[in-house]
Amino acid sequence: MLISESSEDDESSTEMMEVDDELQEAAAALCIGVGSFSDLPEIPGFAHFMEHMVFMGSRKFPQENFWDAFLSKCGGESNAWTDCERTCFYFVCPKGAFNKAIDIFAQFFISPLFNKNSVDKEIMAVDNECRMISSNDNERTRSIISHELVERGHPMAKFMAGNLKSLKEDPERLQVNVYEKLHAFYKRLYSAHYMTLVVHSVDPLDVMEANVVKTFSKVPNKYGSNIHYFCRIKNMAAVAVVGKVVVVVVVVVVVVVVLVAAIVIILLIHRFNIILYLPSEIPKPMFIKPPFQERSLNKLVRVIPMGDIHKMEIIWALPPLMEHYRARTIEYLSILLGHEGKGSILSVLRRK
Ligand SMILES: [Zn+2]
Repeated sequence: MLISESSEDDESSTEMMEVDDELQEAAAALCIGVGSFSDLPEIPGFAHFMEHMVFMGSRKFPQENFWDAFLSKCGGESNAWTDCERTCFYFVCPKGAFNKAIDIFAQFFISPLFNKNSVDKEIMAVDNECRMISSNDNERTRSIISHELVERGHPMAKFMAGNLKSLKEDPERLQVNVYEKLHAFYKRLYSAHYMTLVVHSVDPLDVMEANVVKTFSKVPNKYGSNIHYFCRIKNMAAVAVVGKVVVVVVVVVVVVVVLVAAIVIILLIHRFNIILYLPSEIPKPMFIKPPFQERSLNKLVRVIPMGDIHKMEIIWALPPLMEHYRARTIEYLSILLGHEGKGSILSVLRRK
């Protein structure tokens, strides 16, 4: 923060601080718990393509390049990325432009346009990205592992980047309408209860909260709390009229049916590695089988690099560690292995 050297003029000092506040950086990021694992099976790379299409205008701000033009005018920037289970969008701009920026940003999730004219252009943008990463040796190694070693049918074996073939040529041949699928995907999965928003600004918390409520409360929640799967109270009241014997019979039949259904579902899940969605809750994908089976482990994969590099990568398959994220468990291993001090594993390996 700027402070006037000669503090004799308090008023001008305050003015300078206010101007300075306006120029401070503000930012927001919105992350959706939906990524490439949720790709439509007939359109590999769809979640990534969807990420590209989100920034292509909204009903309130329909011009295709409005967002980019606004940010470049005020000195801001924005970007987005898609990984297996998340898609994240963010922007940074001077605080003075933040209220307008967050309004434009929120509209991408309230009423995105998915302009038909932008579809081909963004498919080409995704295709270009795919060509770029396909000559990157790290990406090539990763794709060899996911295609050759990951179990067939597991989402990790998917082609997640997407290209012209997966997003346009194949869907056209199969008569799949990508444009319609965009709207259906948005309707089904771009729901407020999947989203996490982080806002960073020099504004007081109350002001920020009011601003977020004003702009983001219109983001639709497609699995609202009014949806309940089990509504037993009314049913049981009706059954009580019939008599206790009937109740017992009904309960026994229901229990048997539920048990049989549960066994069938569990067998199906194990057989086909099905992704479960529970309509009344956040439909978290559940992957019962691990991506690597016994026969894929203890393997040495040799990759001929495109660049002039020599590299060794050792990969461990670990169980999900998300629930331990506060303890940053995995980072202990990384720090221990990467430590370069005297007596460290790395120093011993380098000496040899
Ligand atoms: Zn991209």
